[in-house]
Amino acid sequence: MMSYPQATSVEDFRRHLAAVQARIHAACERVGRDPAGVRLLPVSKTVDEAHIRLSYAAGCRQLGENKVQEAHRKWQAMADLPDLRWSVIGHLQSNKAKWVARFATEFQALDSLRLAAALQQRLQAEGRSLDVFVQVNTSGEASKYGLAPRDVQAFLAAMPAYPALRVRGLMTLALLSTDTARVRQCFIGLRTLRDQLRPGAPAGVDLGGLSMGMSGDFEIAIEEGATVVRVGQAIYGARALPDSHYWPGAASTGVG
Ligand SMILES: *Cc1c(COP(=O)(O)O)cnc(C)c1O
Repeated sequence: MMSYPQATSVEDFRRHLAAVQARIHAACERVGRDPAGVRLLPVSKTVDEAHIRLSYAAGCRQLGENKVQEAHRKWQAMADLPDLRWSVIGHLQSNKAKWVARFATEFQALDSLRLAAALQQRLQAEGRSLDVFVQVNTSGEASKYGLAPRDVQAFLAAMPAYPALRVRGLMTLALLSTDTARVRQCFIGLRTLRDQLRPGAPAGVDLGGLSMGMSGDFEIAIEEGATVVRVGQAIYGARALPDSHYWPGAASTGVG
């Protein structure tokens, strides 16, 4: 089991970020990829403002948050950092679309047309647009959010009706498991689906992005083609709350 020490100084954050970047580079090297093609998205959920400000001082300029109201609260509290951008990466109910439309620059968990319509309406009202990733359930677990792989093609075909949403790619959460072969299979599944759908994607729907991989599995994800890795605990330190707080059913795996 990996241990994730807490970061409590700018120096700690610099060291943790450098260690993660070194692992990203090593994973890229193993498969002959250019590390410039992998974006590290630090995930600051549950982290308090003081620690987020330390990570900002260490260079973080875009942060991922799982829950929209927590993200919105932090955005307001840190409005004095105008170049700090927020990416919402967790499931969103349609009735909360207005929160995302107000401040987020990226949303990685688009998984229904009802939500797409709500976001389109709210973004239009705000005069904003949003980069989005379509979330796909690659593990087959009933508890996981995201579209079934077979439904993604029709979903993408509907996207031109929502011009405020700029589709940038697909996102997934792998199985939370120590069985790395099964974890890898989730990432292969997302990449394969993307490769199948890319040639027929509607104009304006960019499937170049693959957001996959977290602290426990980002190296495998990079080996399988990730262009965005969402890393929280390896940067900020272990979270006190169990993953089941974020993903219903996660606790039953005994991992995380
Ligand atoms: C929390 C979270 C992550 C990061 O997980 P860590 O174990 O902290 O690296 C990635 N993606 C999503 C959707 C998350 O909610």
